[in-house]
Amino acid sequence: MKLAMIGFGQAGGKIVDKFLEYDERTNSGIVRSAVAVNTAKADLLGLENISQENRVLIGQARVKGHGVGADNELGAEIAEEDIDEIQGAIDSIPVHEIDGFLVVSGLGGGTGSGGSPVIAKHLKRIYTEPVYGLGVLPGSDEGGIYTLNAARSFQTFVREVDNLLVFDNDAWRKTGESVEGGYDHINEEIVRRFGVLFGAGEIGDGDNVAESVVDSSEIINTLSGGGVSTVGYASEDVEMSSSSGGGLLSRFSSGSDDSNDMDTANTTNRITSLVRKAALGRLTLPCEIDGAERALLVMAGPSAHLNRKGIERGRKWLEEQTGSMEVRGGDYPTNEPRVAAAVLLSGVHNVPRIKELQQVAIEAQDNIDDIRQESEDNLDQLVEDDDDELDPLF
Ligand code: GDP
Repeated sequence: MKLAMIGFGQAGGKIVDKFLEYDERTNSGIVRSAVAVNTAKADLLGLENISQENRVLIGQARVKGHGVGADNELGAEIAEEDIDEIQGAIDSIPVHEIDGFLVVSGLGGGTGSGGSPVIAKHLKRIYTEPVYGLGVLPGSDEGGIYTLNAARSFQTFVREVDNLLVFDNDAWRKTGESVEGGYDHINEEIVRRFGVLFGAGEIGDGDNVAESVVDSSEIINTLSGGGVSTVGYASEDVEMSSSSGGGLLSRFSSGSDDSNDMDTANTTNRITSLVRKAALGRLTLPCEIDGAERALLVMAGPSAHLNRKGIERGRKWLEEQTGSMEVRGGDYPTNEPRVAAAVLLSGVHNVPRIKELQQVAIEAQDNIDDIRQESEDNLDQLVEDDDDELDPLF
C-alpha cells in the first residue's frame, strides 16, 4: 500500500529516512511522500534521503532550533502552534494517490512524543484516509522521564490514530549493548518488518501475480477497528531455481511428479513452520497473541516457494492461537532468495510491557513531584535567614 510518512522528532525522522532507503533498495513502492518534522535543526540536517523541502523546522520562536529537551508537553504545544507550517509540507502530498498516513515517532523523547498525537489528530480532522501511528517505546535503561513521556504519549497517540503499531526498543536491545549503540540494527529491523507488511499490497504491473496476493484493502481492514498492533517475522533462505520466478508453465515442466509432490510438501511445511516462528518469536511489541482481535499473514518470497495450502494452514493455525475469526492471509511474490512470514496482530490487549511501563511512569511522576516539593523547601531554607531579620530589596 502507498503511504505518506511523517517522521516526528529524531527517531521518527531517522526511521522514515530508512524507509525511503528500503523502498529504493527493494523497489517496493510504499513511500509515496516523506516528511520530517523537528524542533532541532541538527537532527533535520542529519537526514540523508528525505528531500530538503520536506524537512520542517518548527518552534523556532520558542526554542531557536535547539529542540525541546525531552519536554513532551512543550513538544505538543509547539506542534499545535506551528501546525500551519507542517500543513505546508503536507500540502505537497498527492493525497488521492495514498492509502493512508503513517506518523512515526519515538514516544520517550520530547518533539515526537508530544507532536505526533497532535499531527495525527489534525490529519484525521482534514483527510478521510486512515491515519496510522508507528510508536517506538524507550529502553527500560533510559530512565524515568523517558518512561513517563512514553506512557503519556502512548495513551494520547492510541486515541488519535486509526491504529497504533508499536515497536519496543527494550525488547530489541542486544545483550551487552546499549540501545543507543544499537539503533542502526534496530531501525533495519523496523523497516524490514513493516516494509514487508506494507509492501504486500503494492504489487507492480510487471510482477508475478501469485495465487492469492494480499491487497491493500486487507491490510486496511486488519488495522481498522483501532487499538494497538504488533508484528512478528521469520524468514528462511531458499535457492532460486531457474523456475523460481516462473508461473504455472515452469512448475509443470520441471521434474517428475514425485519430486513435484515432494517440493509441494516441503514448501507447505516451510510456510507453516515460518508462521509459527513469526507469531511465537519476538514481536515488535511482545505480548500474548491469544485474544488478538484481527490478524494478517503475509508470505513473501519467490512464487515457486509459496503455495495456497501452506498459507491456508498457517492462517488456520493463527485462528486457533488468537481465537480470532478475522485472520486474513496471502502472498507477496518477490525476487529475493528468501521466504518470509510477516504476521500482523491487531487489537492486542494482553501486553504486560505496557502495564509495566505505566507502573514505572507513575512512580517516576510521584518521584518528580516529591523532588520538586523538596527542592522548593530546600531553597527556602537556604535563602531565608533563620529569624527573618533581613528584608529583600523588592
Ligand atoms: P525527540 O527528537 O525529542 O522526539 O526525541 P528522540 O526521537 O531523539 O528520542 C525519543 C526516543 O526514541 C528515545 O528515548 C529512544 O527510545 C528512541 N530513539 C531515538 N533514536 C532512535 C532511533 O534511531 N531508532 C529507534 N528505534 N529509537 C530511537
